[in-house]
Amino acid sequence: MASRIVPQQQPRGADLVGLRSCANTICLRHSIELKFKRTCIGSLDDITEEPAPTNSATNSSDHSEKRQVTFEDFQKARLEIRPSAMKEVTLEVLKVKWEDIGSQREVKNQLLETLVWPQKHRDAFTRIGTDAPSGVLMYGPPGCSKTLMARAVASEAGLNFLAVKGPELFSKWVGESEKAVRSLFVKARDNAPSVIFFDEIDSPAMNRGRDGDGVSVSDRVMAQLLVQMDGVRSRGDVAVIAATNRPDNIDPALLRPGRFDRQLYVGPPNEKDREEIFSIHLRKTPYDSDVSMKELAQLTDGYTGADISLVCRQAALAALEESFDASVVTMKHFKMAIEQVQPSEIQFYQKFSATFHRGALMRST
Ligand code: ADP
Repeated sequence: MASRIVPQQQPRGADLVGLRSCANTICLRHSIELKFKRTCIGSLDDITEEPAPTNSATNSSDHSEKRQVTFEDFQKARLEIRPSAMKEVTLEVLKVKWEDIGSQREVKNQLLETLVWPQKHRDAFTRIGTDAPSGVLMYGPPGCSKTLMARAVASEAGLNFLAVKGPELFSKWVGESEKAVRSLFVKARDNAPSVIFFDEIDSPAMNRGRDGDGVSVSDRVMAQLLVQMDGVRSRGDVAVIAATNRPDNIDPALLRPGRFDRQLYVGPPNEKDREEIFSIHLRKTPYDSDVSMKELAQLTDGYTGADISLVCRQAALAALEESFDASVVTMKHFKMAIEQVQPSEIQFYQKFSATFHRGALMRST
């Protein structure tokens, strides 16, 4: 069964709060130990040797045992608190089907060919003496189904799915980022056949030489990622997919042969596609006989799949706002929703995709 491994991420600030609270606990534990010692041994000398300034964090009624949280307490806490980039991951069942995605047939076929064939027909690949492409990069404006398709291909092919956003691998804690990348691939191999999905692969964390602080965590993350991808290529039981809205920001090393060497453009839907996407999003919504998918598609020129999904939700809400007894959504509600939901600004992203596409054509010739 296809499943998604979800990183149990916390915001970075939460790591620091956790560190402080752990240091407080260590300090408190120390104070209690001292008190216990005094009670058992009855030796006041032991206590007077300890610095005992007051500290509200300890909450002790006996002021003689109170001490401030020290740097040493924080150092001990650091051994117990792991940064969020390295937090455990859990499995989640994925149930995305191809029927849930309107249009994008060519991309679907390419994903199947690249990711599913090599895993399902490994003997045929060996017999014919060729390697499958190692990684697939999906690029295009946001809200056009890159993530949805990555999930669908894993779900339909029964591959385990590990999803991670580029910035989630980034940690200033020395060595933690590389460990995060390594453990991600180990997990993928342990759960093979599987797919690793890198969303926002263009993030600054994934771009070498852009830290500007001389530490260059990004260099280390990228180096580790390249090593792991090269390893994956030789085994063939873990596929890697990446997605980006800004292909122009991707480290060129990732695009070399043997890495993300299959590049697929996932563009905004045309009128026919939009009709299909409306039908998909209205599968569970009762609508009036006056609702025409064709007309909805015509009215939503420039809308992405994500915009259409929002229009459908807004229209249903408009029907409910009118009356909680409403049993159908009418064309009037859809028109109201279309007025409220503005199409996403995708021209900005399309520009980068077009430049990247031209570059990809040149790279392949
Ligand atoms: P991206 O990864 O390209 O930014 P997503 O795959 O996250 O976009 O899409 C966001 C949401 O938009 C999806 O969860 C889905 O509801 C809707 N959507 C986008 N494209 C389509 C499509 N082709 N068919 C059906 N729904 C779509």
